[in-house]
Amino acid sequence: MTGSSEAEGAQRALVLVVEDDTLIRRLIGIQLSGLPVDVVEAASGAAALAACARRVPALALVDMGLPDIDGAELCAEIRRRYPGTPVCIVSGASGASDRRLAADAGCAAYLIKPFAAKELQSLVTRLLASSAS
Ligand code: CA
Repeated sequence: MTGSSEAEGAQRALVLVVEDDTLIRRLIGIQLSGLPVDVVEAASGAAALAACARRVPALALVDMGLPDIDGAELCAEIRRRYPGTPVCIVSGASGASDRRLAADAGCAAYLIKPFAAKELQSLVTRLLASSAS
């Protein structure tokens, strides 16, 4: 038996989407609906940590620019509280300083807006596979 066939009967992996822009958050949710995952959305850092406390996500997608906390700081906080949860920073900025901040915060990947659905889906699939092993 493979791990994936076992997983079909079990709870699906939870992906946390942290993004304060409602349209982008919904769009990411729609793009992820093509994958066998559960999605929980949060519009702020506080809402994200509350969601993690209810159920620890298998992966978190974190917008760099949030109203109550810097995305890199939230990434570091999630990594500190939930070391088994990889974090992908989603940013509109391609600047080297943001990338460095994200890397220093322990992010597993860095996705630049705008991105194609396929790009997001393949990244999420890859990160979930690496976190499950
Ligand atoms: Ca934002």
